[in-house]
Amino acid sequence: MHWARRCQLLTACLLFASIAHAQAARAVRVPDAEERTSRAFDAARKQGPLALRAFLYAMPKGGDLHVHLSGAVYAESFIRAAGEDGLCVDTEKLAFVRSKQGSCETGEVPATEVPQNQKLYDRLIDSFSMRSFVPVTGGSGHDHFFDTFDNFGGTSKNHTPEWIDEVASRAAAQNEQYLELMETPDFKPAAVLAAKTGFNANFAQYREQLLAAGFRNFVPAARAFFDDADKAAREREHCGQANAQPACRIQVRYIYQVLRGLPKEAVFAQILLGFEVASVDPSVVGINLVQPEDCYVCMRDYQLHMQMISALHAIYPKVHIALHAGELAPGMVPPDGLKFHIRSAVETGHAERIGHGVDIMYEDRPYELLNEMAEKHVLVEINLTSNDVILNIKGEDHPFLLYRKYRVPIALSTDDEGVSRIDLTHEYVRAAVTYSLSYRDLKQMARASIEYSFLPGADLWQKTDQPVAQCRNQLGRETPLGICADFLRSSEKAQQEWELEWRFHQFEASY
Ligand SMILES: [Zn+2]
Repeated sequence: MHWARRCQLLTACLLFASIAHAQAARAVRVPDAEERTSRAFDAARKQGPLALRAFLYAMPKGGDLHVHLSGAVYAESFIRAAGEDGLCVDTEKLAFVRSKQGSCETGEVPATEVPQNQKLYDRLIDSFSMRSFVPVTGGSGHDHFFDTFDNFGGTSKNHTPEWIDEVASRAAAQNEQYLELMETPDFKPAAVLAAKTGFNANFAQYREQLLAAGFRNFVPAARAFFDDADKAAREREHCGQANAQPACRIQVRYIYQVLRGLPKEAVFAQILLGFEVASVDPSVVGINLVQPEDCYVCMRDYQLHMQMISALHAIYPKVHIALHAGELAPGMVPPDGLKFHIRSAVETGHAERIGHGVDIMYEDRPYELLNEMAEKHVLVEINLTSNDVILNIKGEDHPFLLYRKYRVPIALSTDDEGVSRIDLTHEYVRAAVTYSLSYRDLKQMARASIEYSFLPGADLWQKTDQPVAQCRNQLGRETPLGICADFLRSSEKAQQEWELEWRFHQFEASY
């Protein structure tokens, strides 16, 4: 036989042999569902952010732990509500105003007329959100962002159930399952009493004085604000009925939101009311302090606020604490103002979760702080778009990768999805593209969003990738069996973790 012919045969033999070998290898190593899903994610990433969006929209994302209810509502909904409430629109300020004696003044139009005036409608949406916003001299994203709250404010609190429903419906459509919504009930009578009583820097004593003066009379109304709105939202969604809306599958809890830019008596009154309400109302799972961290009072009284929380935490140790800290960028405040907020929130304010944490590398001894947060399991709620539009911090200027490197738990959240005109999927896409994250990285953050929720009960996970013994070999099922079912009945948090694994199972089975 000609040598070339022999060689061809040999090549063919080798080829057959290698195919047989590959088949044998494939027979041994079949990619599991997570791996197939991971490959589909990589393929979507190669196609670009739009394909990634479609993938991540359907992906189970667990919870959104950092949501301000009013900031989560889209401007269009506020305009409709203002019409129903008979409000007027100041056409110069582009803000809602109350009508005087039932009619609007010069320079104002009834909110009911806005939908017929496309130009005004557009300008109002821009005034109520970051849509079309371009920073100019004297007009920063920071200022425009926080001004939106004044501009769209003024609609009746009766709309709260609609807002809960809007946010929960959007979350359900994106395969989320859990929300912690921040909201501020009426605290004025409590603040008036605190001011009348007079400030006392001994906070345990100040509390005693206020309780003796009837402070607890304010608890039922604040509690009812959350519970009634929640109940009405569930009714709107027909929960428990045959025509139940998808939003019924979202577990909603509330965080008592304290406005920290007010006089110290009013801040103390709110923090105390928050602790009181969260102690008796299972749907209110914790407290948080809000308003621009760089505001004059917020900077001046920062440590004082932490001391208030510290004193009350000793009295109400079961109430969970999340704190906005480090939502600052260099230049926004003097350098000293960047040095201690996150550490103080963790060490003095007993924060279990930090909102933003953007300026961490400007803190004193930042690496020690990163290690401390990892050791104490303090999660950082990451709000990428919000940090971009308010602080002008993005990409490598954001400490996202440092938190990951130092194993500080993180979860993606939206902050104010209505104002930013985004949703949680947008934040997943943004994180995946900006920081080259893998499917498993995103899955880890989704899991953290439930693990670090303020739901009561034991964790389903003993350690990473290892569920508690009772539920071993059962994750991914729809219904738990035997002792696992018993365990889950005892823990609301574990129920949600179980649910997330079931959703992952379904999602990954589709690839
Ligand atoms: Zn926030």
